[in-house]
Amino acid sequence: MNCYFCDACHYCFTAEQLPERCPDCGKLTAYGHPAVRIATEAEIMDYRQIQMELNEEESHAAGKEAAGYESDSYISHGTDLRQSHVRL
Ligand SMILES: [Zn+2]
Repeated sequence: MNCYFCDACHYCFTAEQLPERCPDCGKLTAYGHPAVRIATEAEIMDYRQIQMELNEEESHAAGKEAAGYESDSYISHGTDLRQSHVRL
């Protein structure tokens, strides 16, 4: 897997082979040369950093959602218990 960079839209992505077109903006050329080129070390570092940050955000969001569901089910469960308590 290689890292490629689009000079037209500054999109960084991984692919098996150098694509002709940028998968994001679809440009073939930018500034008179092919839009998509192999990313530099610095760009790959940036890319990895961004991926890590995105993954962290996703896991935080997923964690919040899971916690939300848990507390919802806990509350409804608690209510059920209270109601059954009252009925008894
Ligand atoms: Zn692009």
